[in-house]
Amino acid sequence: MQSSVFSNLFIIKKECKGCLLNYTEFQIGDADNFFVILLVGILMLSGIIFVELKYKPDIYLIIIFSLPLTVIFSLLVTRPIKSFFLYITFKIKMTQ
Ligand SMILES: [Zn+2]
Repeated sequence: MQSSVFSNLFIIKKECKGCLLNYTEFQIGDADNFFVILLVGILMLSGIIFVELKYKPDIYLIIIFSLPLTVIFSLLVTRPIKSFFLYITFKIKMTQ
C-alpha cells in the first residue's frame, strides 16, 4: 500500500509505514524553503510587474490580490519541492 511521506500539510513522517524506511536520516535542512521563496518570489513579482504595466491598477487592488495569491502559491509548491529534496537526499545516501 502506498502512503504519503507527509504526516500533515508540511511535516515529513518519521518513517515509512510500508517498508519502515527511516526518514529522519535524510536531513534536507532549509533547501526546500529557499526554493519555495525563490519560485514564489519570481512568480509573484513578475506577475505584479506585468499587471502594473498592462493595467495600472490601484495599489490597494494589487495588495488585496497579491497577498492571498502568494500564500496559495506557497502552499501549492511546498510539498512537491519538499518531496523532491527528500528524494535527492535519499538518492545521494543510497549511492554512498
Ligand atoms: Zn516505504
